[in-house]
Amino acid sequence: MPSLIFRKGLDLKNAVAGMLAENYHSAIVDRIKAEDFTYRTGRLTVHLAREFGFCYGVDRAVDYAYQTRERFPDRTVYLTGEIIHNPHVNEKLRSMGIRFLSDDAGSIDRLGADDVVILPAFGVTVAQLQQLERRGCTLIDTTCGSVLNVWKNVRRYAENGFTSIIHGKVWHEETQATASHATLYGGSYLVVLDNRETSLVCDYIMRGGSREAFVDRFEKASAPGFDPDRDLQRIGLANQTTMLMSESLEIGEMFCGAMRDRYGEADLVNRYQAFDTICSATQDRQDAVVVLLKEKPIDLMIVIGGYNSSNTCNLARICAASRPTFHIADPDCLMSPQEVRHRPVGSKQEITTTGWLPPSGNVVVGLTSGASTPDNLVGAAIAKIEAFCN
Ligand code: SF4
Repeated sequence: MPSLIFRKGLDLKNAVAGMLAENYHSAIVDRIKAEDFTYRTGRLTVHLAREFGFCYGVDRAVDYAYQTRERFPDRTVYLTGEIIHNPHVNEKLRSMGIRFLSDDAGSIDRLGADDVVILPAFGVTVAQLQQLERRGCTLIDTTCGSVLNVWKNVRRYAENGFTSIIHGKVWHEETQATASHATLYGGSYLVVLDNRETSLVCDYIMRGGSREAFVDRFEKASAPGFDPDRDLQRIGLANQTTMLMSESLEIGEMFCGAMRDRYGEADLVNRYQAFDTICSATQDRQDAVVVLLKEKPIDLMIVIGGYNSSNTCNLARICAASRPTFHIADPDCLMSPQEVRHRPVGSKQEITTTGWLPPSGNVVVGLTSGASTPDNLVGAAIAKIEAFCN
């Protein structure tokens, strides 16, 4: 039996709206938004960024997951892995009886026509989708439209004989899915993480070098059989949707400059293409935090979101450039007025810092949260900071 695929929800939006509000809504956040995104109490002032929290893609994915549970109460419902990068939301779905295929490597081979599988907001690889389709189960596809747009661009690059250069994190599910689309129609890809890696690739484009060393260095970040001498002759740039916009622009200029240097201005149009595929939600949250830092006298920043959430990490990067910044996964990380558990920018480990909150005098806290963080966590964090201050 071929799979049945739902891509536009299950007509149960109203039926689950109450549950979603109960699980993720925050009255205090609503009140702060209504009061010009500012909250004053005693010696504490909190300024919220004007764009933060759940994006349109995450909102939709979580909504569809709840609709799925409602529509199929007697069937086993699975997620391929995390639906979004927020531990609180994933745990909530587990508590509703939704299982994770990522918990058990062999589970996908045991799926049958009665099973229901939810695909996450950042999509799955072409191979994973084909594997699920072969099992004949019912699929609920929550892939965000902005991710589909990246796939459309890399497929077009492949059709036109361009190698996709993906500015992204090679371990991130979205980038893995994008890479799989780049290899359709015989295309190739190379993933670059940052401008350091971009410099290496640009050097090779302009001056050549050891082919073997290049293949070795980018083995895990390139298509099987990637040949830099062949595959860097015509390149098209795309981004993981949640990257840092300023870095992506810089990377685009570096590649454009390298291709111009190697092939000349006249041939550039045949050699280099670029589409900005950072999604508007990521862009809006980054812009909002830049404005917040510029316009308000912020003493310290709290950034809330999963440590594996790319867009949250990038918000923390922006903040840390000018303010003491604490990226916390959850309000529980705010342990006491003295101690906070957080992950510093660029680190892979959570640490505990003491003396994060000034013990007396007025304090102005800036707050933002990643696209996969629900408002109730933001509200709970504000309530904790208030209790610590007053
Ligand atoms: S961060 Fe952007 S691409 Fe990802 S789900 Fe949200 S809107 Fe879609």
